[in-house]
Amino acid sequence: MCSAIILAGGNSSRFGGNVPKQFSQLGGKPVLAHSLLALGRNELVERLILVAPQEYMEFCRELATKLGVSCEIIVGGKTRQESVYAALLQLAPAEGLVLVHDGARPFVQAMDVAEVLAAAKEHNAATVGFPATDTLKFAEGGQILETLPREKIFAVQTPQAFRISVLLKAHEAAREAGFVGNDDCELVEKLGIRPAIVAGCPGNIKITYEIDLILAKGILENLREGTK
Ligand code: C5P
Repeated sequence: MCSAIILAGGNSSRFGGNVPKQFSQLGGKPVLAHSLLALGRNELVERLILVAPQEYMEFCRELATKLGVSCEIIVGGKTRQESVYAALLQLAPAEGLVLVHDGARPFVQAMDVAEVLAAAKEHNAATVGFPATDTLKFAEGGQILETLPREKIFAVQTPQAFRISVLLKAHEAAREAGFVGNDDCELVEKLGIRPAIVAGCPGNIKITYEIDLILAKGILENLREGTK
């Protein structure tokens, strides 16, 4: 069992348009509705916190009611990290595990949730990730400095799962140091903990650019739950 945080507090500066990506339409409902339903109906999730922008609080309240999902809705921070921290403060001092998921990833599967939670139980922290398929180069100033060993590279996604006390400690240490990480695992890594990585589903894309919504429509039509 766990608590879960769904992050929908961003304003989607890279997405363009007037509506943040997590609220644009996908298959007749907002992108956010897909993950809200997936985690809201997941029997391993006993408490759900949704982080939203101030101006979408009412929209999110109505959406959750319409979907029949029971969740607490709070206002997000300026950065993703601040949004996670705001949600963690709602959970503390609870013990147990917390799942952190991007509301902009509509295709989270129950299988990923179960696997990442099991790994976090054992290792304190875990994430889903997908082995890199492109060749990755380390570059600076428009020139390649190094080719990275692809077999060791993962594109990390969410859900990520943590022992609540560990993630809270990691966030507090980062705040103290003025450090802003790319994801929650990075903050935990700074404590000297090595999060586990479990193979995620390739369809678990994040909507970042408008083109991702086009891909998402294709995935939605062909998605089979429980396939990797
Ligand atoms: O911007 P990015 O795609 O990395 O955001 C990942 C998730 O974090 C999105 O679902 C977004 O709504 C959320 N977020 C947030 N609060 C912020 C910025 C991003 O909850 N201040």
